[in-house]
Amino acid sequence: MDKFDVIIVGAGLAGLSAAYTLAQAGIEVVVVERGDYPGAKNVTGGRLYVNPVRQYLPDIWDDAPLERHVTSELVTMMSPDNSTTIRFRSEKFNQPPYHSYTVLRATFDRWLASRAEEEGAMLVTKNRVDDIIMENGRVIGVVAGGEELGADVVIACDGVLSLIAEKAGLRSPGVPQNYAVGLKEVIELPRATLEDRFGLNGDEGVAQLFMGSLTQGRFGGGFLYTNKTSISLGMVVGIKDLMEKKPPVEVPYLLEEFKERPEIAPLIKGGEQVEYSAHVIPEGGMAGICPLFSNGQLVAGDAAGFSLNMGVTVRGMEFAMASGVMAARAVQQARERNDFSAASLACYQQLLEKSFVMQDFRTFSHAPHFLENPRLFGFYPQFAGEVLEDLFTIGAGPKAKLSDTVRKHLSFGEAWRMAKDLWGGLKI
Ligand SMILES: Cc1cc2nc3c(=O)[nH]c(=O)nc-3n(C[C@H](O)[C@H](O)[C@H](O)COP(=O)(O)OP(=O)(O)OC[C@H]3O[C@@H](n4cnc5c(N)ncnc54)[C@H](O)[C@@H]3O)c2cc1C
Repeated sequence: MDKFDVIIVGAGLAGLSAAYTLAQAGIEVVVVERGDYPGAKNVTGGRLYVNPVRQYLPDIWDDAPLERHVTSELVTMMSPDNSTTIRFRSEKFNQPPYHSYTVLRATFDRWLASRAEEEGAMLVTKNRVDDIIMENGRVIGVVAGGEELGADVVIACDGVLSLIAEKAGLRSPGVPQNYAVGLKEVIELPRATLEDRFGLNGDEGVAQLFMGSLTQGRFGGGFLYTNKTSISLGMVVGIKDLMEKKPPVEVPYLLEEFKERPEIAPLIKGGEQVEYSAHVIPEGGMAGICPLFSNGQLVAGDAAGFSLNMGVTVRGMEFAMASGVMAARAVQQARERNDFSAASLACYQQLLEKSFVMQDFRTFSHAPHFLENPRLFGFYPQFAGEVLEDLFTIGAGPKAKLSDTVRKHLSFGEAWRMAKDLWGGLKI
């Protein structure tokens, strides 16, 4: 069989970052991707925090096809007939180097693949890896398109439902509570219309997250990101809640309802839907991370479970890129020892532990538990809406004091639970 130094399964951000780094080091690497082109099958809500990954891929950012740098962050709590939005805008976010950009993966991944190819990586698209080849307890290659390909190391970067890590025994089939399903539309609008609607100057952008009645009490929420000439709009819902909560709902139906909300409809009016995609997201935090190495194999990106929902920020892309680079560096170290055993490849774990990747997962290990709280998606948006509605309403009679208005909507028991939730939130 054909033999390479390294085979990477999947041309997403993890796989391409690993390929770029390996190729730069002169290591023979082939990336096998099932899609028609890199990014064809990849879904993200749409914002990338660049600061954590700048140092890992220092020379790619100047000509990267990034969309808008985010200067305004909005968080909206929705009830059936009102919504409360916190809007934060910072001039600091408007100073280069910008910390966060919106991105479109079909463009970005393709471009990163071309950079990896320029460095010497080989890319094989329209080919699915169907199996791994094991010999004496060691991964020695893969089967793709009926062909056997051999390598010193196989890096599984095949995304959230990684067949490759599962076949190698590194992870077992996932449990519903560690996953959510996301639906996303890209809606095109003329640039001037988009900038007028969102009050944007030049390449400034907006990121908005939604929680509350849009998921009908289920774990999850909505997102909206402005690109140069389009809006990325979508919704994420926890798979466990989708399976268990009654009455059953379909996520496409929730998304349609979300688009019809008065907060959203005017923003997308007249726009043309140019992309519609669905994808699973790892939501397990620390509990969702699988063993990261074995004899002849490493796992990076979503395949390893590296996606972190911190409530007001959703992060997966920079973990994918950084873990891809560190997998490549671990291979380089193992090559120096000419030893691709699990003991030698364990340096990957050490690199990750020293980096922001494992440190952030440890710091925010409470986040998944905190975000499971159904009161975040029901009671709190409702409470905020009711109090503010009363506050801003002047009725025919005398007006109640603020404390009485709050008490009207917050029983002693609810206040107690709120204090406990707040305490739980402070642990994040
Ligand atoms: C709706 C949604 C919203 C999100 N929002 C954000 C956000 O705003 N910010 C953020 O940072 N993260 C976000 N994420 C998470 C982020 O998109 C992922 O963490 C990131 O894409 C992971 O990159 P990856 O390279 O590990 O996997 P992927 O991008 O999934 O790439 C995996 C690649 O492997 C290929 N592949 C799979 N199986 C095989 C096979 N057997 N053979 C060959 N090829 C194969 C796939 O085609 C794909 O190209 C979001 C995710 C979703 C779904």
